[in-house]
Amino acid sequence: MSSNKNKKNTYRRTRAVQAGIGMDKAEHAVIPPLYLSSTYKMKGLEDFPPYQYSRTRNPTRDILAEAISGLEGGHDACITASGMAAITLVLHLLGPGDLLIAPYDCYGRAYRLMSALAEKGHFKLEFVDQYHENAAQTIAAKAPKMVFIESPSNPVMRVANIAAISGAAKDANPDALIVCDNTFLTPILQLPLHLGADIVCHSTTKFLNGHSDVVGGAVIAKTKENWDELDFWSNSLGVIGAPFDSYMTLRGLRTLEMRINRAQENAKAIASFLQEHNAIDHVYYPGLENHEHFDLAAKQQEGPGAMLSFTLKGDKSHAATFIERLNVFVLAQSLGGTESLINHPASMTHVAMGEEAKKKAGISDNLFRLSVGIEHIDDLIDDLDNALKG
Ligand code: PLP
Repeated sequence: MSSNKNKKNTYRRTRAVQAGIGMDKAEHAVIPPLYLSSTYKMKGLEDFPPYQYSRTRNPTRDILAEAISGLEGGHDACITASGMAAITLVLHLLGPGDLLIAPYDCYGRAYRLMSALAEKGHFKLEFVDQYHENAAQTIAAKAPKMVFIESPSNPVMRVANIAAISGAAKDANPDALIVCDNTFLTPILQLPLHLGADIVCHSTTKFLNGHSDVVGGAVIAKTKENWDELDFWSNSLGVIGAPFDSYMTLRGLRTLEMRINRAQENAKAIASFLQEHNAIDHVYYPGLENHEHFDLAAKQQEGPGAMLSFTLKGDKSHAATFIERLNVFVLAQSLGGTESLINHPASMTHVAMGEEAKKKAGISDNLFRLSVGIEHIDDLIDDLDNALKG
């Protein structure tokens, strides 16, 4: 994948490592201190310091916002208590009558939140296939107010053409807002704002924090105008992140580039290993040449990422035996940590989808999703190999 695109981003990445470093005016601490105080002293009635009340503004949260926004190339960011809170904030930019277009196979809880709010009349909603060749035209024909994109999709890693969808939607409605959930790739591997999106959201619970010990979220806006509106809603709804969580996430963010690069190298090796294995039916990974969107991923992304899925041959009993025989991969819901996890979407993350919707999204009983971590590759492959022998 291209390295020219990478060069433009090196300064941003250095800034994320250095965020808040050496800026402590009180004690000259190298690492920025954690500000837990809910309120701040004013010198007099005419004094309005930058920090007055921590729901509105908090120094620890602000450093994280600046670091994440810098990485994504945005104007500024709002930090929230979860990825779902980040999506909730974004949906407050819509009003009754506005049309929201979202992928039919988006993250299950996001799907349910959007559906429930649409049912209450907060906005109009249509779920579409965003990974189809003519997706941009189909979406533009509906002239939506907001297009919510998830790319690559979960769990079968389809890739949406962010530039084409953004361009066509804005041609049809210049006020259209393009929102991209960049949780799976992070700004190290994909920059949606550069591809035409207006807003990026994250579950920082995943790769950005990267240590499976914080639940958090972020919304990054490209323009001051959009950020001002998001900031108004964040402060008014109280959709904010706790200072301690921000401190922890900032700590994780400093090693993001190293972690994701190592995890991606492991994922590439695992995808090739699984593809050759006679117990495997199909591997879904945008870095494999037989992936339906290999060319688009190579153009749009800096790399294929550290998430992949595969289907086992055999029936449900083979799937159960395979899981029981794993020792290194941990069976769990989340993703993006330093440790490798395995997920069975049909019975875990996507269990609430109806059978019809699961079938449409390619989620069978023999499908597994891996969140590849940073362990030694030999141990990861040995673990899979041993379990597949079962
Ligand atoms: N977006 C994506 C792509 C996710 O995978 C998730 C959670 O798994 C979320 C959003 C929601 O994030 P959180 O669990 O931090 O609320």
